[in-house]
Amino acid sequence: MNDLLQAFPIAAIIIGQDDFVVHANELALGLLGRSIVDKHYVSVLRHPDVAEAIDHVLRQGGKRQARWFTTLASVDAVFNVSVHRINTAHALVTFEDATDFENTRQMRRDFVSNVSHELKTPLTSMLGFLETLQTIGQKDPVAQQRFLGIMTNEAHRMNRLVNDLLSLNRVENDERFQPTQKVDLVQIIRETLETLAPVAKKTDNTIVFDPNYAPAYLLGDRDQLCQVITNLVENALKYGGPAKDVCLVLSQKQYQPVLRQDGIVLEVIDQGRGIDPQFIPRLTERFYRVDDHRSRDVGGTGLGLSIVKHIVNRHRGRLTIKSTLGQGSTFSVCLPVV
Ligand code: ADP
Repeated sequence: MNDLLQAFPIAAIIIGQDDFVVHANELALGLLGRSIVDKHYVSVLRHPDVAEAIDHVLRQGGKRQARWFTTLASVDAVFNVSVHRINTAHALVTFEDATDFENTRQMRRDFVSNVSHELKTPLTSMLGFLETLQTIGQKDPVAQQRFLGIMTNEAHRMNRLVNDLLSLNRVENDERFQPTQKVDLVQIIRETLETLAPVAKKTDNTIVFDPNYAPAYLLGDRDQLCQVITNLVENALKYGGPAKDVCLVLSQKQYQPVLRQDGIVLEVIDQGRGIDPQFIPRLTERFYRVDDHRSRDVGGTGLGLSIVKHIVNRHRGRLTIKSTLGQGSTFSVCLPVV
């Protein structure tokens, strides 16, 4: 019986009718402890639902399922526990790790609830203004114009959100496939900055990028690299404050220990108020914003850095964020070069 148990691809133990653990495979010893054999099952598995399932099967036969919630190396874990009577005297207990499955389900639930919330806010506001417009009608043309302006902003916000969601979806689908086209990053930066010039002009910012960089070739997706630069520069403009420089600096091609190969680093540097270090690890999470109101005021969706992270991952690169409160932030993208 012990040999059979060792062949199981999941943790499994056998409990005798005297309620003591008779056999345990290696995976079960790793999960429940090295000295569980010859111990009463209650002292091994303290969860009431699991204990109840084992007790039921040992006394009355048949099979039972239970969920076991535990903590492994300080991380919450959940197992589907199956208890089967295998002969008159024994119960086989198997432990199927359902943690990843549960986490994925939770992430999906959180995502749907976040998206619904993000869309509902502008939609509710638009419905409110539409109702008001219907009641005031033509009577107050000034208010009418003002409400139409607000509704246009809200519609733009929903449009940005849907576009970012579509981008994120595309980028996540592509992530496994490394790009194969040889592109010049310097050229892409130049073209992208041209399209961003009017945005910078509006807030009286200057985007600084040395025009004399030599071409820097890498295997990349032109549109996606353009999106990385756009998102980082737009953030630097949004959070860097008006009338400040946003600098783009490109390093020489050199060995990059984080990539374990040659690469280049593009830094986007702003002089804004910076980010408290405790928030930095969470910035690339979907919908995470340090300051909800400020992000919304400047037209943020909370998805920009998440999109950047996925694109950089697809290019087998690394995104690093450094910031000093009161002095500004530097977002660095390290990319492998050919
Ligand atoms: P958003 O659409 O809200 O800008 P992002 O994913 O691009 O979403 O950024 C997430 C959050 O990170 C922002 O809401 C902001 O709080 C913070 N952030 C991003 N870039 C900067 C920056 N250059 N300076 C300060 N904070 C920043």
